[in-house]
Amino acid sequence: MNWDDFAGWSKHIADWGAQYHKTLRDRPVRAQTKPGEVAAQLPDAPPSQPEDMGDILRDFEDIVMPGMTHWQHPRFFAYFPANAAPPSMLAEQLVNTVAAQCMLWQTSPAATEVEGRMVDWMRQALGLADGFTGVIQDSASSATLSAVLTMRERATGYTGNREGLTGKGALRIYCSDQVHSSIDRACWVAGIGQANLVKIEGQGPRFAMDADALDATIRADVAAGHTPAGVIAITGGTGVGACDDLGAVAQVAKAYDLYTHLDAAWAGSAMICPEYREIFWKGVDAYDSIVFNPHKWLGAQFDCTIQFLRDATPQLNTLKIEPEYLKTSGDAVTNYSEWTIPLGRRFRALKLWFLIRSYGLEALQTRIRNHVAWAEELCDAIRAMDGFEITTDPILSLFSFRCPGDDAMQQHLVDAINDDGRIYLTQGVFAGRKIIRVQVGQFDTTRDDVMAVATVVQEVWEAIT
Ligand SMILES: *Cc1c(COP(=O)(O)O)cnc(C)c1O
Repeated sequence: MNWDDFAGWSKHIADWGAQYHKTLRDRPVRAQTKPGEVAAQLPDAPPSQPEDMGDILRDFEDIVMPGMTHWQHPRFFAYFPANAAPPSMLAEQLVNTVAAQCMLWQTSPAATEVEGRMVDWMRQALGLADGFTGVIQDSASSATLSAVLTMRERATGYTGNREGLTGKGALRIYCSDQVHSSIDRACWVAGIGQANLVKIEGQGPRFAMDADALDATIRADVAAGHTPAGVIAITGGTGVGACDDLGAVAQVAKAYDLYTHLDAAWAGSAMICPEYREIFWKGVDAYDSIVFNPHKWLGAQFDCTIQFLRDATPQLNTLKIEPEYLKTSGDAVTNYSEWTIPLGRRFRALKLWFLIRSYGLEALQTRIRNHVAWAEELCDAIRAMDGFEITTDPILSLFSFRCPGDDAMQQHLVDAINDDGRIYLTQGVFAGRKIIRVQVGQFDTTRDDVMAVATVVQEVWEAIT
């Protein structure tokens, strides 16, 4: 393809994209595809001769698009959002076009310096203390793994990487039973082991781990000859939005000199609003590592995860490696690939720069406040429905409910709602029972879209019973 053809097709795709977004409400939110349906339309073998881009794009529309679930649909209330605000999409187009590897300062100085500034803009926006630095990663899972590896290395006097873990006894990490599966997986991959990830029951209105129970558990582990390595707290758990008491948890961790990591992957975006910081964020400055995903609620196109670090040194001591081919001239510069597990890195900071400049923080705050208010209104509407039960009240914009009937009936209703296609919800489990989750957070959603959930739930419920 020559660059004149590239320009033509780029314009075609930009127009297609605007049209797609303007007509999204006409599409079912969740793909209505059966397993194997898309694969059956693809040739078994690759073509040996060139094909026309017009044909390729036609097949994209005919074969691929019907098999897509529309995460940017204004009636997407499943999982957590993966918002791609238009200015961040434009930045991604530029990043894709320049296609630089931003592993070292030298391999694209602007990428490093914009990243440093964006991390600091977000630090200020989230009300974190002066002195936090950070790095943009691909996912919260990677940031959490980086933090768990740092816990491991710090607890073994930085000998794990060199010597392996043989003979080092049980390293223990503590969290609540409300954490995301990425914490379990980080412990598997880091050689900690699931058996050494100790989960404390989440209790009370925000399903927080009890600091006294945490203290007693660590003390017992020390007495048993184990090596406590770190504590992981959560603000906004995936299931029902659990939030730990950050100050109380950090205080226990510090008493044992443990490294602390906070997972605020989803709820972190809401902390651009000072009033939510008052409720959910007190004590946050004590954490050694904090992860939040601007690629969820805030509007930066996936992928964009910020890991804030109170002091980057322990993580650098854990992950930095400098083979000859990566050595640079010794200038005092930041080489962000030394802060993370992958070497190669995309220029992820550009979409934050475009996003924040294009909207300004106030407009982004307003969106989040609206989502929280509309979730509360919707929750009240479902509470008023005959036989329906609110199983967990809204934490920010996430709540859960049950329809009349057993667990199988909850799943039946979720499946029927998603087959209907007007909205998209997902199920979860809380206190041993199946629940139906609702989160409000899609970037273009309106109050009408949100309140449509009550109507659709009622109509589908009547249709299946
Ligand atoms: C989404 C989420 C994660 C995982 O995020 P990725 O960026 O997909 O790895 C971890 N923790 C919480 C609380 C989440 O909501």
